[in-house]
Amino acid sequence: MNKINLLDIPKEELAHIIKPSFRAKQIYQWIYKKYADSFFEMTNLPKNLLQELDEKYTFKPLNIVKIETSLDGSKKYLFALQDGNTVESVLLPMKQEESSEDGKLIHQARYTICISSQVGCKIGCAFCLTGKDGFRRNLSAGEITSQVLMIKKDNNIAENRRVNIVYMGMGEPLDNLDNVSKAVKIFSDEDGLCISSRRQTISTSGLSTQIQKLGEMDLGVLLAISLHAVDDVLRQKLMPINKAYNIESIINAVKAFPIDARKRVMFEYLVMKDVNDDIKSAKKLVKLLHGIKSKVNLIYFNPHEGSEFLRPSEKDVIAFQQYLTDHGVLCTIRQSKGLDISAACGQLKDREEKR
Ligand code: SAH
Ligand code: SF4
Repeated sequence: MNKINLLDIPKEELAHIIKPSFRAKQIYQWIYKKYADSFFEMTNLPKNLLQELDEKYTFKPLNIVKIETSLDGSKKYLFALQDGNTVESVLLPMKQEESSEDGKLIHQARYTICISSQVGCKIGCAFCLTGKDGFRRNLSAGEITSQVLMIKKDNNIAENRRVNIVYMGMGEPLDNLDNVSKAVKIFSDEDGLCISSRRQTISTSGLSTQIQKLGEMDLGVLLAISLHAVDDVLRQKLMPINKAYNIESIINAVKAFPIDARKRVMFEYLVMKDVNDDIKSAKKLVKLLHGIKSKVNLIYFNPHEGSEFLRPSEKDVIAFQQYLTDHGVLCTIRQSKGLDISAACGQLKDREEKR
């Protein structure tokens, strides 16, 4: 019999299943805070309950297949799911731990973890390796949260250490909104991983009606839009989804999206040589974002085997950024963390399967 994945169950639901209800809190703490490996470590629970839990449930839906460490300290994980499918996640250390001369800790290390929401993806963007393989299936909420749990555990990251989540791995999160929204809530449980929704960024290729739905859920998550092009003709070529949801519909959905007054919507712009790296595009982008509290993140296209696009020159990317900055648009360039370990998601999986 297949065991039930306990990580799929929100604490409130678990409290209805396992009585007395405070057991749910204890179980959560053992799994997410004390990083237990088996039910039998949960010493404050009665033995017969542990036996029963062990028979029915698992809380390890993933196995680590491969880890690649990059020179800049980022680590890419390839995980196998119970059915043999694989997905990728990346641990990105944002700030290294620093101590003063007398050994006092000045600031703690911070981490961002990039996670997958589906095996494959239906959207099929021309530049993306994940999309090339087509879609296999949605990840469950527990398969999504487990990526973070496994990575925290594997790196001995203290349970209370600050972690940000970006749904920028494999898959289109808004095409799996039920499970992704469930994962957002499970992540934020104070007896669990305790990652507030305000530290979770959902990245989408721009499914406007789903952006609206997500907005109506009012979860408090941050939104990132993979824009990549400023006119519909080009965007349609790069991202077929633009036929169903054009740029205007995305901009309208973003304008209606509830965001924290101190935060901004992020627009990701994958820069490809001679495709979208010109100043004319930068100019259009400034116009498009007028009136939106936004920030732009420029990403260097990372070439992969068989890709028709090229990495842009540094000079063009910097000029693009400069234009945006000069015209009042906040703009950063994503440092290509992990470029040396085949950065963009889908690439580690691809290489592993070709072996
Ligand atoms: N499906 C969602 C979630 C993330 S997709 C979305 O499209 O927003 C993963 C991210 O990797 C996207 O921001 C995409 O632009 C980026 N990406 C895909 N292929 C890439 C490549 N070859 N080089 C650099 N970034 C890439
Ligand atoms: Fe899917 Fe995002 Fe890749 Fe496009 S970029 S194919 S939406 S994972």
